[in-house]
Amino acid sequence: MRTPDATASWIKARAAALGFDECRIAKAVMLEDDAHRLEDWLHSGYGGTMNYLERHFDLRVDPRKLVPGAKSVITFLMNYFPAETLPEQAPKIARYAWGKDYHEVIRERLNILLDQMRAEIGDITGRGFVDSAPVLERSWAVRSGLGWVAKNGNLIHPKKGSYFFIATLITDLELPEDAPFQTDHCGTCTRCIDACPTGAIVSPAVVDARKCISYLTIELKEAAMPTGFEHRNDDWMFGCDVCQEVCPWNRFSSPHRQSEFLPVPEILSLSTSEWEQLTEDQFRKTFRDSPISRAKWKGIQRNLKAIRKDDSIPPSS
Ligand code: SF4
Ligand code: SF4
Repeated sequence: MRTPDATASWIKARAAALGFDECRIAKAVMLEDDAHRLEDWLHSGYGGTMNYLERHFDLRVDPRKLVPGAKSVITFLMNYFPAETLPEQAPKIARYAWGKDYHEVIRERLNILLDQMRAEIGDITGRGFVDSAPVLERSWAVRSGLGWVAKNGNLIHPKKGSYFFIATLITDLELPEDAPFQTDHCGTCTRCIDACPTGAIVSPAVVDARKCISYLTIELKEAAMPTGFEHRNDDWMFGCDVCQEVCPWNRFSSPHRQSEFLPVPEILSLSTSEWEQLTEDQFRKTFRDSPISRAKWKGIQRNLKAIRKDDSIPPSS
């Protein structure tokens, strides 16, 4: 029988074999401080129309309520930084969305890992989450020592930057916890705050989603963008990477190793006018397995209109 340390090492080795770049462990406890921060953020209205974030609040801040008997939260990082670059004539799309839907890719790997753990360790309860509303993934990443929540609101790994998906596996298996990350390496830098085209970073690590291009181009389901948005969207059609692009910690980013995250060919080839000409049917077929499908064809067409700004209208303040 393995010691808990040996079991943790075995899990980390399996995670690496499944393509995860990092895997670390924290004890499953209630996230008191994070609960207060989340509550303040929601009460400030910064969540916009994402009302679902208010639901099941108690489950979100306590993994033991989400997975009864939970003892450990295992957090994984998977790099998505692409080797390719978007051609000049293509509308801008956040890098995380260039390949296959990461929810499916990562969920499948988490399920494989859970099966392997059960086969090796025995009857354990576990549930995997990826970019999922019920779990405060960045908080778990910090608690398990993977990095800090930076001024742009992203988790930054000190050696690998921020172009990562974060996933968690909550389990009733008791495992030795890794040391938390206790420092903040943003220092006096304000590049992300200064560069954000819409002023969405209202204070360090606090993003007002209602102003954020990422939220506006993906989550907002209104037929039209807020007034003046077309002058501030910096030509982003889906998502926004500005606050990651300017971050000095991302000079360490290196290309991912996942074939599933290779760009859908059309992302690298379609010009703005070709995107505008895509029919709903063509869009559905081409982007069926892509995160871009989340915005739906109508949302993409609305976003394209905002890119095609009429420069005769003065920018609103
Ligand atoms: S994603 Fe873009 S709009 Fe949102 S905070 Fe970052 S830079 Fe600003
Ligand atoms: S750009 Fe500067 S302030 Fe912003 S996240 Fe990166 S290091 Fe922190």
